[in-house]
Amino acid sequence: MKTKIAVANGDGIGPEIMQAVLKVFEANNVQLEYEFVEMGKSYFDAGHSTGMTAQAKETIEKLGLLFKGPMETPKGKGVKSINVTARKVWNTYANQRDFRTLNGVDTVFSKAGIPINLTIIRENIEDTYGGIEHLLTYDVAVGRRIITRPGSAQVIRYAFEMARRKGLKKLACGHKANIMKLTDGLFLETFQEIAKEYPDIEASDIIVDDLCMKLVTRPQTFEAIVLTNLQGDIVSDLCAGLVGGLGFAPSANIGDNISIFEAVHGTAPDIAGKGIANPTALLLSGISMLRFLGFSKNAADIENALLYTLEQGVHTGDFGDKSIPASNTDAFTDAIIANLDEVPANGGVFSNPDFETRVNHLQPLKNKLTVTKNIKEEMIGVDVFVEARVQPDELAAMAKKVLTDNFELVMISNRGTQVWPTGSIYTELVNEYRVRFEKKAGKEITQKELLHIAADFSELAKVCSVEFLMNFDGKIGYTLAQGQ
Ligand code: NAD
Repeated sequence: MKTKIAVANGDGIGPEIMQAVLKVFEANNVQLEYEFVEMGKSYFDAGHSTGMTAQAKETIEKLGLLFKGPMETPKGKGVKSINVTARKVWNTYANQRDFRTLNGVDTVFSKAGIPINLTIIRENIEDTYGGIEHLLTYDVAVGRRIITRPGSAQVIRYAFEMARRKGLKKLACGHKANIMKLTDGLFLETFQEIAKEYPDIEASDIIVDDLCMKLVTRPQTFEAIVLTNLQGDIVSDLCAGLVGGLGFAPSANIGDNISIFEAVHGTAPDIAGKGIANPTALLLSGISMLRFLGFSKNAADIENALLYTLEQGVHTGDFGDKSIPASNTDAFTDAIIANLDEVPANGGVFSNPDFETRVNHLQPLKNKLTVTKNIKEEMIGVDVFVEARVQPDELAAMAKKVLTDNFELVMISNRGTQVWPTGSIYTELVNEYRVRFEKKAGKEITQKELLHIAADFSELAKVCSVEFLMNFDGKIGYTLAQGQ
């Protein structure tokens, strides 16, 4: 019996490269059956706000696997990226991208004889990709960066399991916990906790800017790296550059129920319809998908044929030896098909533990909710964010008017830098301040009292937002201002 998957052709070059990949699958007698789903730009244009039809959503949820071409999200219409929405809604929490030196794809490193073989696992759902952004004043935009304990644990555990399956010796965690102490701090703390369960894998952490420098100077020293979403996004494109560009980087978005395999490049509108697009990235993603679905023999045959074809110097116009004429998409695809029994110089790939074979797809009955239990919480105070055009000491005088016996005014900051009770005359101000109220020692306070402070303040200045100050299990759950 054939395995059914959902396929979305995508926009721009999407249909051309998808057709090429499915032609290779067919030539290798891959036992897959495709249900084509309606997703992409034309469905946004037709009024589907998520960029897909209800039928497409139902099919993907039923089959649990989507193979997709690149898609265009219309700009300036206020709609969210279909690619990001699909990953988030279906909880494909781990984005795995395997980067390898490919013979026939020349890079600075291949020319220097430095082989690259590393995997980036990027958290795929959280971070700034929630797209929760607000203009607090006309001058001040704020975005929320959401990093959660369950979300971090899910992707970090995936990364350790992947490292173990592949027989890797090392896994690094990239982060910026020195600056983002609570968000990246939580990610790093979770990494260090989970690392204890995998003593066979050397776990280390590295600050993301240092990581970028070392990836460019010594990429061969890394085996696998796990990162939060935005940093992972940037670092994985950097790694694509190390092995020849986005055209050679497969991408798998893995979840417990639904997984998405796609090429990471875009729709290439400049070459769409010309029949010259390079299908390699989508084919590599397709090979990953075959492994994930348990078709390891097909995956090996096709990967060997692709590597052999690249070694022969066959190339599309976007890469390769310029002294050899470029092939169009059809000719490139046919060359791979003609090479399906060939073995590349590296002796061929036969088994590859990049992915754990998918277990049966299950449809959950309700949304999964994960909470860490038995945590002691203590309410400490409130940060009231206000719009004001006055100097810090004038704002402090206003704030003192709303104080009750239970509270004290602790500090005022502007763009995260303390400007009251002490500060520097050189700190430049914008029209949004944070005013911090904390309970006095020994007092018990309620959330209602904190909201009252904000409500009273709103009679003196425009309140833009409110954040509560909490301690969790005795640990401070908010950051101090710079200079506090
Ligand atoms: P792009 O990746 O489409 O193109 C960048 C350059 O790379 C272009 O010169 C293009 O011709 C070339 N290129 C890309 N893929 C190629 C291929 N397979 N073969 C040969 N050349 C290739 O990036 P862009 O121009 O920034 O984005 C175009 C559109 O794609 C935008 O609407 C964007 O939102 C969308 N996009 C979608 C995805 C996705 O679906 N996952 C990812 C990135 C961008």
